[in-house]
Amino acid sequence: MIERVPLAHLPTPIEALPRLSRLLGGPQLFIKRDDLTGLGMGGNKTRKLEYLAADALAEGAKTLITTGAVQSNHCRQVAAAAAKLGLDCQLILAGNEPGKAQGNLLLDKLSGAQVFFTTKANRDQELQLRFQQAQRDGQKPYLIPYGGSNTIGALGYLNAMRELSEQKLEPDWIVFATSSGGTQAGLILGAHLTGFKGKILGISIEHSSDPFSAQIADLANKTVDELGYDWSVTSREVLINDSYCQAGYGVLTSAEIEAVNLFARTEGILLDPVYTGRAAAGLLDLIRKGFFRPEEKVLLWHTGGTPALFAEPYSQGLLDK
Ligand SMILES: *Cc1c(COP(=O)(O)O)cnc(C)c1O
Repeated sequence: MIERVPLAHLPTPIEALPRLSRLLGGPQLFIKRDDLTGLGMGGNKTRKLEYLAADALAEGAKTLITTGAVQSNHCRQVAAAAAKLGLDCQLILAGNEPGKAQGNLLLDKLSGAQVFFTTKANRDQELQLRFQQAQRDGQKPYLIPYGGSNTIGALGYLNAMRELSEQKLEPDWIVFATSSGGTQAGLILGAHLTGFKGKILGISIEHSSDPFSAQIADLANKTVDELGYDWSVTSREVLINDSYCQAGYGVLTSAEIEAVNLFARTEGILLDPVYTGRAAAGLLDLIRKGFFRPEEKVLLWHTGGTPALFAEPYSQGLLDK
């Protein structure tokens, strides 16, 4: 069994969204607050890091090294986990270095992470080079892939489905932002293990559902193999809606702006501009198209990301109406 280091405040609460449900004329909306996992301002990566950090410590690592966008929530949570565990942290960020460190980048630096900038195209190569350099320098690096999405990180959301089943809500749908796939792979595995009856629908932030659903099924199946179970997941079981990511990763459109403002104003829930804002925009569109029956229970799984609200270009863009 793979160990877990406790980093997150669990279980995260589930809240009803009665005002928003009424405004939209159903379905019954709920939200699972993984923005409140606590570590370094929270988010979904903390659940993955409970397992990834345990593996790093078991290997005797001294440095966590990973990659993401300049406003990466994943990198911010890795930096906080490293600080909490007394490890060093190196972050390879894809994008131009901004004039001011805001939002997630500010928090990366406050947590003491060493930050390097590169282009998106060179991101993974740069990660490998920095990893090898750190090895040569005796820094005992532990490499965490983009988004923490591997067979170890996926265990975080397998565990989260166990947590959900104990909370007794039994939603008909779980809707959430899917991007590097580890969250969805874990949720699907946890659904198998807990006998979850509802559907798990990822709103894609970046990738078209083909071949993304096959990649997620593949990650899920590798995790199943490592756990020693004898069942498997097909790509048809991986439900992804890719209708809301045409603008590109991290590009704010009127749909995200509307969703972020509506959740804040009707329920006091702060979404983020890149992930949960886009997932909620997709959810609102599906509701307006009558995709859900009015009596169904729909759980939006809040995966965090709120520090990006305080970074350009998002902070001002969200107010442009
Ligand atoms: C990383 C992230 C996601 C996507 O999770 P994946 O496991 O990468 O698919 C969703 N929401 C937020 C806020 C994130 O930071």
